[in-house]
Amino acid sequence: VHCPPFLYHRPTSLAEAVETLAEFGDDARPLAGGQSLLPMMKLRLAAPAHIVDLGAIPRLSTVEERGGELCVGAMVRHRIFEERAAAPALPILRDAARGIADQQVRNRGTMGGSIANADPAGDWAPVLLALGAIADIINAEREWSVSIDEILSEAYVTQLTDGDLIRQLRVPLPTDSTGSAYLAFKRRAGDFALASVALRITVAHDGSCSDISVAVGSVAPRAMVVADARAVMLGKSALDRDAAARLGDAAAAACDAEFDRPDTMAYKRSLIKVLTGRALNIAARRAQGEIVDVDRYQ
Ligand SMILES: Cc1cc2nc3c(=O)[nH]c(=O)nc-3n(C[C@H](O)[C@H](O)[C@H](O)COP(=O)(O)OP(=O)(O)OC[C@H]3O[C@@H](n4cnc5c(N)ncnc54)[C@H](O)[C@@H]3O)c2cc1C
Repeated sequence: VHCPPFLYHRPTSLAEAVETLAEFGDDARPLAGGQSLLPMMKLRLAAPAHIVDLGAIPRLSTVEERGGELCVGAMVRHRIFEERAAAPALPILRDAARGIADQQVRNRGTMGGSIANADPAGDWAPVLLALGAIADIINAEREWSVSIDEILSEAYVTQLTDGDLIRQLRVPLPTDSTGSAYLAFKRRAGDFALASVALRITVAHDGSCSDISVAVGSVAPRAMVVADARAVMLGKSALDRDAAARLGDAAAAACDAEFDRPDTMAYKRSLIKVLTGRALNIAARRAQGEIVDVDRYQ
């Protein structure tokens, strides 16, 4: 199956990219790795007359630590985070990257494209939500920043409008006593997740939780923050089984009953409870300096 015909633009600067997008309005779409856009075009779910390839804009492909944040250009490929060295302070990025699709998709697909595509089962959205990441957006007229929570609307829909580009994603770097983990249940290696949990915890000197953030994926039209996570865990030890069980219940409550068949949603809620308990354990151990590989847990 071929894509419908389109004109191909390959700007070499951000200014040129946003000008081209502004010129063609809703006839134009940015192209990142093409891992979602091209299949959508082949299926005739999208037929932009102009494709604006972001691949020749070097500043979109850098990862750097700056001002207490990891700044990830929108065009940074998933594969970059498969290496521990790409973000040693944030092993959660490796947890997620290693489970995305296959090597070919990870070589081409990008973090910015994943957020813009807003697949409810995408792996990056829950991770970036739990980490409190910010997206820097640009269009031909202005630049602004929004939280990931604000960008995501519903399945495959974001707050971005024609001409808006995600420029970079900024992830707060953790303190020494903060750990995070991402666990996704995939039926086969490379599948989209049936359910996923991203969790970040800060542990006080006495081992109790002083801050926590949890997000779930694949269980609602968009990745969701678990509203009651702090209320359940603040002051509690990650080893407290009752608290962990209540956190699992709070995460399961973020599942949208209407998202899938009732029996499937019951199964997904069970998965979320189990994954939350495991993610809590791993993140708390990482907060105390332990190196934990999630592969054993999925
Ligand atoms: C076989 C297969 C399996 C997959 N499995 C998984 C999986 O397990 N987990 C997972 O998370 N993902 C999975 N994916 C999706 C993959 O992660 C894609 O990389 C991701 O959906 C985005 O693709 P892309 O970066 O190539 O963006 P593209 O396909 O190029 O673009 C996607 C959309 O985002 C827009 N866009 C792209 N960049 C920007 C930007 N900077 N600003 C504004 N809009 C932008 C485009 O216009 C388009 O609408 C899979 C894909 C395939 C083909």
